Amino acid sequence: MQSRVETLFAPLRERSARAGSLLRESTVGEFRHGAGRHRLTRWTLHGPAGGGAPIRLGLFGAIHGDEPEGAAALRDLLLRLDDDPQLAQGYQLHVYPVCNPSGYEDGTRHSRAGCDLNREFWRDSTQPEVYLLEKELTALGFAGLVALHADDTCDGAYAFVRGATLTEALAKPALSAAAVFVPLAEREVIDGFPAARGLITECYEGVLSNPAAARPVPFEIIFETPQAAEFGRQVAAGVAAVEAILREYRQFLAYGQDL
Ligand SMILES: [Zn+2]
Repeated sequence: MQSRVETLFAPLRERSARAGSLLRESTVGEFRHGAGRHRLTRWTLHGPAGGGAPIRLGLFGAIHGDEPEGAAALRDLLLRLDDDPQLAQGYQLHVYPVCNPSGYEDGTRHSRAGCDLNREFWRDSTQPEVYLLEKELTALGFAGLVALHADDTCDGAYAFVRGATLTEALAKPALSAAAVFVPLAEREVIDGFPAARGLITECYEGVLSNPAAARPVPFEIIFETPQAAEFGRQVAAGVAAVEAILREYRQFLAYGQDL
């Protein structure tokens, strides 16, 4: 039987084999949980050259294995960008649709080691997924990072914003773009954190993030869709949100705004 990760990636592999495709698959690392062998996969898409040096971004899905919406959104985003590469102009995208492969197979938040991987970053974790992703984050020095999640306790989309000052200015249009497909969170407290129009500036410790020493400070957006909403609408919301971020960030750089 084909694994869920293989099923998810099948259209990407088919596409990347075609002439002219910009999609490339590579293995970040392999590891075991008990008898199960797992692989952390990176998909890259280098868009057409923009005005300046290529902008490297990291896009992450399914660090919680029971949130397949984000994985599907990144898969669909890659297919869409490969169809219309101008949307990725100026970017080098490094995309990790399934950051928790064993949890994704099992449909569980935690990895097969029983670990919430999204509380383990930059804490000397011994979890192989965290080790591999930390290595990527260190080596690639992303200008920005987006992590996609789905929340079964909230009835609307929202975002945690961290890092660079311009992060809020990127997250707002991302939420507006998502609002075409899913409701936005209007609560003033989400997940125990104060929220203003769907934006949260505090966060849990140990979430997937850039190294603390990264300079210039990268933007970091953790984008959450309401898991009670229809699957396809959450996927479309995730695609629209990331596309909006690509568009807005390119504009900021083009105008040289020093935010
Ligand atoms: Zn999550």
